[in-house]
Amino acid sequence: MRIANVAGRLALGAGDRWIDVANASGGVFSADPMAVYERWDEFRAWAATIDESTASAHVITGALENPVPSPRQLIAIGLNYREHAIESNLAIPEHPVVFAKFQSSLTGPDSTVTLPSDGIDWEVEMVVVIGTSASNVALADAWDHVAGLTIGQDLSWREVQTRGPAPQFSIGKSYPGFSPVGPVVVTPDEFADRDDLAISCALDGEVLQDGRTGDLIFSVAEIIEYISRGTTLEPGDVIATGTPGGVGDGRNPKRYLLDGEVVEVTVSGVGTLSNPVRHER
Ligand code: ZN
Repeated sequence: MRIANVAGRLALGAGDRWIDVANASGGVFSADPMAVYERWDEFRAWAATIDESTASAHVITGALENPVPSPRQLIAIGLNYREHAIESNLAIPEHPVVFAKFQSSLTGPDSTVTLPSDGIDWEVEMVVVIGTSASNVALADAWDHVAGLTIGQDLSWREVQTRGPAPQFSIGKSYPGFSPVGPVVVTPDEFADRDDLAISCALDGEVLQDGRTGDLIFSVAEIIEYISRGTTLEPGDVIATGTPGGVGDGRNPKRYLLDGEVVEVTVSGVGTLSNPVRHER
């Protein structure tokens, strides 16, 4: 199953069409794309009953927006691929490196992002969307709490994220527009292997990151187990799972986003985010 935010309304994928959920359900489910995660199991059961005539009668068209626009928590994992830890001159972590991004940094799958400075870097990430509340979850049960997978871009102002004697990543990764997410949320059962997806990032067509989520140091299940021991994950929460090697800061010479470039990130089976960047003038 695929769901999306089509012009601000929750939509269910049916072949190459999108179905307006609020209309097709006769108002049983809200048009609010966030509300569905509060009733995730009920929604899945309803979605399985949609027939062709109902689908045809409630097609919706429009631009795809961020499918998870206002999660309670936007959590990210640092240094979760070996090559990225090495290029960052940091140790391979023994525990997941967990930090917060601020909700106000979220934006849509094709939004133009205004960069506040030079020195802004790219990071493609596979993103997990939580479907049911998760607290002290056992490893074997962790995937049961996942609604679906989507794609994120964790734009990062390196100088800001590494400031100070105890660097805090949050602000340097939370400027407005620094968290594009989308274009759709795909349920785990849609993937042949939900733990091994191709993940890549290209700038104006030049591939700069090219990895597989099978190389995550801490898997999706391990991340959920670990975070849920310390906090309760709520429906609609979003976890960015880390970026593979190939960021600009790890290159020689270093490279950062330039005015007018288009940063494209892809996760196989989900789709592509395509965000033009502009420098603030
Ligand atoms: Zn990241």
